[in-house]
Amino acid sequence: MQAVFDGHNDVLLRLWSHQRRGGDPIAEFIDGAPNGHIDGPRAREGGLAGGISAIYIPSDGIILRQPDENGHYDTPMSPPLERHSSLDIAMEMAAIALQLHRAGAWRLCRSVADIRAAMADGIFAAVLHMEGCEAISADLSELEVFHAAGLRSLGPVWSRNNIFGHGVPFAFPRTPDMGPGLTEAGEALVKACDRLGILVDCAHITEKGFWDVARVSDRPLIHSHSNVHALTPVARNLTDRQMDAIAERKGVAGLNFATTMLREDGLENALTPVSAMVRHIDYMVERMGIDCVALGSDYDGATIPAEIGDAAGTQVLVDALRDAGYGDDDLAKLTRENWLRVLAGAFGETA
Ligand SMILES: [Zn+2]
Repeated sequence: MQAVFDGHNDVLLRLWSHQRRGGDPIAEFIDGAPNGHIDGPRAREGGLAGGISAIYIPSDGIILRQPDENGHYDTPMSPPLERHSSLDIAMEMAAIALQLHRAGAWRLCRSVADIRAAMADGIFAAVLHMEGCEAISADLSELEVFHAAGLRSLGPVWSRNNIFGHGVPFAFPRTPDMGPGLTEAGEALVKACDRLGILVDCAHITEKGFWDVARVSDRPLIHSHSNVHALTPVARNLTDRQMDAIAERKGVAGLNFATTMLREDGLENALTPVSAMVRHIDYMVERMGIDCVALGSDYDGATIPAEIGDAAGTQVLVDALRDAGYGDDDLAKLTRENWLRVLAGAFGETA
């Protein structure tokens, strides 16, 4: 079994929703849940040793547009969110992350040394991420506080515009080149992240925003949960040019398990074979090299192939990759070491 450290999950969103309905999010993680994808028991069963776990402020009432007779869809961009209510929700999710840590349910990791220690101890190694920075104001004061609370990774925008930049809506077929990128405040945010040792994630930002991050920062370029646009031309996937830039900067792109980002027809359909995931990995490895490809499951954030099911099925993908010819060294890179390398770089660690 390869221990997997994964680049993107929304388990905090699921636990927060459970809490909103009156449930106990800590017990839900420790005891296991009948729905969703990640909890302690299922992560252990599937060798999911840890992952980057997002604080994400949900957009109310977003309904993915149904495809037309040609299979095309174009979901309108979610409206911008108000900062105060976003900050409230971000605090609630960060609190759950800290409570899980205190309860020993997972380890909130602030360094790669922490991640490796948690993995050795058999405790889920979580890195706190913010997917869209609506909770942060332009003076970045909240960033300081969230960093102190353990935030070590962020994407300036989700598929929604905010004061930091412009996101890509969920549309098929569309390119990610559909509007402006980072704002001036967004450039300052990226520079502050580089200074503080917070990984900057280009998932969900426009292609222009991706090039803006590349210009403002000299760090490796990161796309935590996106696939190959040439295979699935959904706006959230990576163009060949973007992948070439990620390779040149020794960054990482993580395979998203969302069927909408894996299938040629871009549809949400759990009956998508694992071979579609292998096909995207093969393309990414061919284009960027084995050192720049990793996993970004989107567990608890997307409809994923039924053959995987949930975190307990993580090794189904690892086995499929092994059957496709990836040896142990390659699998170690794909399943964890590439993430740990770029995180160590972002955190200023040598290991
Ligand atoms: Zn996402």
